[in-house]
Amino acid sequence: GASAAAAVAEAIGGHAADWDRAGAVPIPVLRGLGAAGILSAQVPASYGGLGLSSAHNGELTAHTGALCGSVRSVMTSQGMAAWAIRRLGGPEQWKAHLPSLTGGALAAVAFSEPEAGSDLGAMRTAITVDGDSVVVDGAKVWVTAAAYADLIVVFGACGDGAAAAVVPTDTPGVRVRRVAHPMGCRAAGHADVTFDRVRLPADHLLGGSGRSLPLLVTSALSYGRLSIAWGCAGILRACLAAASAHAASRRQFGKRLGDHQLVARHLAELVVAERSATRACEHASRCWDHSSPDLVIAAVLAKHTAAVQAAQGAAAAVQVLASAGAGDGHVVARAYRDAKLMEIIEGSNEICQLILAQHALETTT
Ligand code: FAD
Repeated sequence: GASAAAAVAEAIGGHAADWDRAGAVPIPVLRGLGAAGILSAQVPASYGGLGLSSAHNGELTAHTGALCGSVRSVMTSQGMAAWAIRRLGGPEQWKAHLPSLTGGALAAVAFSEPEAGSDLGAMRTAITVDGDSVVVDGAKVWVTAAAYADLIVVFGACGDGAAAAVVPTDTPGVRVRRVAHPMGCRAAGHADVTFDRVRLPADHLLGGSGRSLPLLVTSALSYGRLSIAWGCAGILRACLAAASAHAASRRQFGKRLGDHQLVARHLAELVVAERSATRACEHASRCWDHSSPDLVIAAVLAKHTAAVQAAQGAAAAVQVLASAGAGDGHVVARAYRDAKLMEIIEGSNEICQLILAQHALETTT
């Protein structure tokens, strides 16, 4: 974990603001991190990964999230793609895809469609088995890292149920169009992707057709939610560091900003936000590492807690820095834009609340 963290710091250097403004991370940087196993660090060593626990990968994700929201987003997508292949595919598919994901190939995961955002049951992308091939036909939107991806794990409707397929982006019929100027994580390579009767060998179907949609998507989403939650803990660490340093050094009205009680309160709230987000993440990672059935709800809780805290905490950090943090590219300015999007993706605040409320109703005695 420690050397991976150092490699992330070295790869990102001081470039996060420039990449955010340019709307792109140089692909060699992403391939380098991928080939070091860092973008999908829970993949076992036997497949070229680092074999990290969820807890250690979580800390690596937070470290990355504190430095660059876009690289952290790519890491979430790559890790989620690798996990979906492990969870849904079989040994032949692990052998076919995991070594490339730890060897520099980049991956994305596509659920969302124009008419299927929160309501994934409305997905219309069709995944159809046709003899010894599988055909993917449909359109996905806002797929993080798709602009960089060599392969996309695509979820779709299949018979009476659902299925997931691994689609190399150079297959005829795949078209990737960047989302223009996203408000945050602007270098994460978000793209809309269309699949025009894309035909692949049947072994690109991950583990069978006509499976239950909730069973299929929940494991991928749990990975993604936990990764985003850790990324939000990282956003809060960066905001707390920037706000504390500023409040300790800048003076107004004859004393340090941090000695004005209303500013001190922002710092206290940032400490609470960072610690409570981290605790929720640690709990969910413990569930992951102990294969606890509580993982699904713990991941939702972590994601919701961390995203809400990050959005509020980033706003507070901008407030403390004021004009000093108001420039495009400043760490707190990026955090503010990036964190807001974390309240939308992988289950919006409202969808997380519905899941948590449903859980409360089901477990009431
Ligand atoms: P809608 O579903 O239309 O929701 C609009 C609003 O209504 C939201 O506030 C929502 O919470 C609320 N709402 C909807 N239904 C209910 C309900 N039943 N009760 C209460 N409130 C409700 N998708 C991918 O597949 N792969 C990716 O990698 C990916 N990356 C993304 C990255 C970013 C930065 C963004 C912004 C989006 C990304 N998405 C990705 C898409 C993302 O998953 C969807 O935006 C998200 O699921 C919400 O869907 P929607 O935008 O269509 O909003």
